[in-house]
Amino acid sequence: MNIFIQIAYLVASVLFILGIKMLGKTKTARKGNILSSVGMFIAILATVVQVEMISLTDILICVVIGSAIGLLVAFKVEMTKIPEMVALFNGFGGISSLAVAMADFWLNTQEKSLVVDNITAVSVAVSILIGGITFTGSMVAFLKLNGKISGRAITFKGQHLINLVLLIGAIGLSAVALGDFSNADYMIALAVVSLLLGILVVIPIGGADMPVVISLLNSYSGMAACATGFVLNNNVLIVAGALVGASGIILTQIMCKAMNRSLINVLLGGFGQTATNVDGQEGPQITVKEVGLEEAAQIFDSVSSLIIVPGYGMAVAQAQHAVRELSEICEKKGILVRFAIHPVAGRMPGHMNVLLAESNISYDKLIEMDEINDDFGNTDLVFVVGANDVVNPAAKTNPSSPIFGMPVLNVEKARTVIVSKRSMGKGYAGIENELFGADNCLMLFGDAKQTITKLVGELKEL
Ligand code: NAP
Repeated sequence: MNIFIQIAYLVASVLFILGIKMLGKTKTARKGNILSSVGMFIAILATVVQVEMISLTDILICVVIGSAIGLLVAFKVEMTKIPEMVALFNGFGGISSLAVAMADFWLNTQEKSLVVDNITAVSVAVSILIGGITFTGSMVAFLKLNGKISGRAITFKGQHLINLVLLIGAIGLSAVALGDFSNADYMIALAVVSLLLGILVVIPIGGADMPVVISLLNSYSGMAACATGFVLNNNVLIVAGALVGASGIILTQIMCKAMNRSLINVLLGGFGQTATNVDGQEGPQITVKEVGLEEAAQIFDSVSSLIIVPGYGMAVAQAQHAVRELSEICEKKGILVRFAIHPVAGRMPGHMNVLLAESNISYDKLIEMDEINDDFGNTDLVFVVGANDVVNPAAKTNPSSPIFGMPVLNVEKARTVIVSKRSMGKGYAGIENELFGADNCLMLFGDAKQTITKLVGELKEL
């Protein structure tokens, strides 16, 4: 029996690895997702058949309840709320690892004569430490993202010192607990310190850094699961946890690079706070030129090259289908249409790719920032749809800007720029954007979906 279970785990692990590889490309992402799900199904099945302490019926009831909640959440959650959902799920992963490690620890300590090997003992401590930090850290991130607590950085004097002392304390407690595995008090104290540390580590982080933290917590939840795999001696949990841990840290690194922030800088926090200060200051007065729908349609009708730059506002307005219609009518008029994709446009990596793919825009029209950035100079028209920070030239020109150094799209270099947004509202970083006052920039105010639908109507009549 054991050999079949190990083979099933091996098959599941291979499916996870192939699935993750396929998730790296838009074209293969859906298949990758299905493959990974099949892998998870096999892993769960192989685990369930070997469980002795709980009846199969009880397990099935839990599977049905869990799947129903998963389905409900998947159907109900809006695209813009995905980071919140990921934060919540990371937290659940963390608390599961902590709970499983604690349960295993108690089972062992009840049998005082039982000798616990070093790997299990260290893994229990690591699962509790990382699982605890992941749980409360993710809950704080979830509350910040859905606005239940301030999304800004919450800082106070001596914060980093307290965190350092708590971390050293947690490591010390782990060492003492491992020396006296039969004493439950140390492990309980470790769990309490870890839970506290999770809160204190995440509260100083705010603003645009939050999604980076979510990706990091995702990596932590993987590491905690991996450690729990060692506790339970379960190979597939070790592999799956290691995959989540490694891919989460790679994603964190990619996001930091795209925002020109170091991970240490993100973890030390304060981003949202800087944005608050900038917000409060009287920035330079930006005078903008408004354009009406008719005039905008005439500009579209007169150009031969167009780059559409989608941003978070397109997701809010759910304007992706209207954007596709616009691109189709422009192409019918012989205009070369391409989409410029900034790596951190929207609120999660790949946000724009997912939305545009959903509206059936061909993948080869989506061009990454590094590939398209030199082309803006010889483009007739750039249409910015609900993007703000990712097209803010201050990132290149203003060293005092909180986003200075973040790579941005060179949209201001195009002959004409039309921006679709509702007002002069700021973006995620909470700062002004001088692009909107540039000589070649025209503002087309209104909700992106409604505006673009009307624009398409106007274009059809030309
Ligand atoms: P953004 O800077 O957040 O700006 C979005 C703009 O959309 C706002 O200025 C808003 O202006 C407009 N908007 C909102 N609702 C709209 C609607 N219904 N119709 C039209 N416009 C609407 O967006 P972004 O340029 O995509 O930049 C993303 C930001 O998130 C960056 O600061 C990035 O660093 C941060 N971030 C992203 C990720 C990621 O993984 N994608 C990760 C970390 C951080 P109005 O209110 O005036 O309409």
